[in-house]
Formats: sequence, C-alpha cells, structure tokens
Amino acid sequence: MSEHFDAIVVGAGPAGNSAALVMAKAGLKVLQIERGETAGAKNVQGAILYADALERLIPEFRDEAPLERHVVEQRVWLLDERSHTGAHYRSDDFNEDRPNRYTILRATFDQWFAAKVREAGALQITDTTVTELVRDEGGRVIGVETDRDGAPLYADVVVLGEGVNGLVGQRAGVRPELDPQHVALAVKETIFLSEEAVQDRFNLDGEDEGVVIEVMGSVSAGMVGTGFLYTNRESISLGVGCLLSDFQETQIPAYVLLDRMKSHPSIAPLIRDGETKEYVAHLIPEGGYDAIPNLSGDGWAIVGDAGQFVNSAHREGSNLAMTTGRLAGETVAALKREGLACNEANLKRYRHALEQSFVMKDLKKYRRLPGVLHGNKHLLTAYPRAISQAMQTFLRVDDVDKRSKERRMMSQFRAARGGWWNVFTDALKMARAWR
Ligand SMILES: Cc1cc2nc3c(=O)[nH]c(=O)nc-3n(C[C@H](O)[C@H](O)[C@H](O)COP(=O)(O)OP(=O)(O)OC[C@H]3O[C@@H](n4cnc5c(N)ncnc54)[C@H](O)[C@@H]3O)c2cc1C
Repeated sequence: MSEHFDAIVVGAGPAGNSAALVMAKAGLKVLQIERGETAGAKNVQGAILYADALERLIPEFRDEAPLERHVVEQRVWLLDERSHTGAHYRSDDFNEDRPNRYTILRATFDQWFAAKVREAGALQITDTTVTELVRDEGGRVIGVETDRDGAPLYADVVVLGEGVNGLVGQRAGVRPELDPQHVALAVKETIFLSEEAVQDRFNLDGEDEGVVIEVMGSVSAGMVGTGFLYTNRESISLGVGCLLSDFQETQIPAYVLLDRMKSHPSIAPLIRDGETKEYVAHLIPEGGYDAIPNLSGDGWAIVGDAGQFVNSAHREGSNLAMTTGRLAGETVAALKREGLACNEANLKRYRHALEQSFVMKDLKKYRRLPGVLHGNKHLLTAYPRAISQAMQTFLRVDDVDKRSKERRMMSQFRAARGGWWNVFTDALKMARAWR
C-alpha cells in the first residue's frame, strides 16, 4: 500500500494552490499534483489579480509576490469598426498603501504561489498528470492514478482544481462534459514595449501604476464576447474571447478576431512597435450559476474553473478560484479537526459556505445574463454602433442646429433597433439579467 495523505489536490492554479495552502497550514498531510513542468507553466489569464481574495490567504503578499502594476484607472470601451465610445474611472485613491487590483503574469505568479504552498508544508509534484480518480468498492473516491509508473496515491479527500478543461472529473463522471455554450475560447498576446512607452501611452505616473481596458462591440464580430487590454510593467496583455458555440457557428478563426482588434484605430497606436513574445489560447467558463456542477461527494470536492466559477459580467475568475479553494480547504480542515469523515454529507458544508459568500451571491445575481446575451446578440453590435453614430452627430460642429441634431440622434438610435418598442424590450431584458 502506498503512502496515504489527508488530501490530494489536483492542479496548482489559484484554486488548487489556495486549497492546498489552507489545508497544509492547518497541519494536514497534503499532496499537490500539477501536470505542468512548473506551476503556472500552462496557465492563462488576462491578468488582473484581485487583492482581497489573496490577502485572506497570504496577508503579506504585497511584499513578496511578483506583481506588475497596481490598477489606478479602469476604462470601458464600446467599439464600432472605426471608433470607440468610452467611460474612464481613475482615482488617486487607488494609489493606496494596499491597492485593490494588480496586473500579473501568471507564469511567475503561480510559481510564487506554489512556493508558498510548499513552505506551508505540502508535498508538491510537478510534470505529473492525474489520469483517474480511484474509488473503493462502495464508489467512494479514495485516491488518484497518475501518468507515472507506480501504485495509486491515496487520500481521505481529492480536491479537483484542474481548471475548466481538466479531464479527471469528467472521466470520473463527477463533472459533465463541457457545453460549447458554457465556455468562451479566448486568445491572448503579450506584447512587449519599454517601461517608458507603457507609461507615456497610458498616462501613468511611475513604474507601478497601471490601466486596464475592457472592450465590447465590434471586437467580437457579432458573437457573445469581449476583449481586454491590460498594462504590465514592460508589456501589454491583449486578448479577445467569445463563446465557443459562436466560434463554431461563425467559423471565424479566433486569431483573425485578435488581429482585427490589434489593428483597430483606437488600439493600434497603443501597441505600435511592440514585440509579441507570447500567443496563447484558453477556455473560460461562462455558463454562470446554472452551469455549476455538483461540488462535492464521497471523498471529492471541486474548486475554481472546474466548477464554472467565473463571473463574466465583472471579468472575475481568479478571485473566485482562490475563494472556492480556500472554503473547500477550510471545510476539509474543520472536518479533520472534528474527527469527521470527508463523505458526501459532511462535505456539503463546502457548498453551504459558498452560498454564504459573494461567490454564489454574485453568480446567482447574474444567472440570467448568459442566456440573455446568447439570445440577443444584437445587444453587442447594434448599440455600440448607434452610440457611436449619436456621438458623431453630437460632436460634429456644422450648420445643423442643435435641436435638429437631437432629433437626428434619436432617429438614428431608433433605426438601429427598428423602433422604440425593441429598444424598450432590450432595456427590460438587460435590467432583468442585471437584477
Ligand atoms: C484569456 C483569459 C483572461 C482572463 N482574465 C482574468 C482576469 O483578468 N482576472 C481574473 O480574475 N480571471 C481571469 N481569467 C480567469 C482565470 O484565469 C481563471 O478563473 C483561473 O485561472 C482559474 O483558476 P483554477 O486554479 O481554477 O484553474 P487554472 O488556472 O486553469 O489551473 C488549473 C491547473 O490544473 C492543472 N491540471 C489540469 N489538469 C491536471 C491533471 N490532470 N493533473 C495535474 N494537473 C492538472 C493545470 O496545469 C493548471 O495548472 C481569465 C482567463 C482567461 C483564459
């Protein structure tokens, strides 16, 4: 019989690292298995790090973690083919002692996070893929098989932090197969520029300040999707993602979408003369609350993207991953402390803790959004174009009087949706989805 652990954690992304860290700190004997050569080697994110979720795990992270820039300005751009209409929020309050959001590069960040897990006492093995869950005769999960020679590895509980397209849970029947309507395919480039160029182009004061831009409209070519552009210290992370089912339907290759975004007149000057050093593609769970699978059973629990924990309305994922990982870890640690088994009934405490947290509250709030966007794609095309036309009419100074301009703007808007009734029903649908 091979060595027995209190817990085996599959994956060293934010979810797996958080679960493993909490359990190791609580004195549990934890084994973490990662298929990448190092933690983060295969991981993709925009990437904005939301400080609060990490601070709850590692209060001193700001002194140690490889952070790029802290975010002082958020922009939201609605694009049509030649223009963007934008909202910016910038505040010196974001230059606080403990900034709330940072940009990061996942490869270095995940390695740092994984080192903290090792420091806390977990045993970590990399370059090793978990292939199957092992069950006893009663169907209870008791360990894992890996692609290395040797006996299975056993534990009281297996925490699956294998990411959105991890296959272990699917093969074992504890997670359903991915539905193309529930995942976005995102492509991303990291484009290198000098530190000075990043600061000059984004009006940043100093090497630490950063800007993030979320982009909607023509960037997704009529599909349900968004783009992003984030400033790192010496690079720009730029990407676009749309529902996989929409890519299948339109047959537009994702790289074509990214190239179009890069050559948009509002974006091209920001990345001019940059050197692309990384091009990656990855899935993002976008099914929302209704796509969340069973989260635990006899001897197993699911955390992070593997459980569809992404709030696409607010572009939050890594914080949900860390929070679900933390709550799963705390549940297991509490059960151990109380001398209780990690069985189906007791592990329900994890779901209960999640229901009390912002994670489930937020996903529940937006549960209608994926369906509304999927059934109303014109929301992402007609309105950005109508707003851009209205802005043109409003801002051009010519011999047309202002009252006539206002009338023209109203009729341009009405025409964009074929009548006011359609505008009204769109507003109602969005209000319901946002409720
Ligand atoms: C383009 C893009 C941009 C994004 N931008 C943001 C953003 O700005 N902010 C934000 O908060 N979120 C963002 N997200 C979402 C965020 O990246 C995820 O929510 C987060 O990474 C989920 O963490 P995780 O640990 O659950 O999964 P992952 O980060 O995917 O980690 C899973 C880990 O499990 C390992 N693994 C998988 N299968 C096995 C196996 N069988 N055996 C061993 N190891 C295995 C993988 O190698 C990986 O290390 C973005 C995602 C994408 C794709």
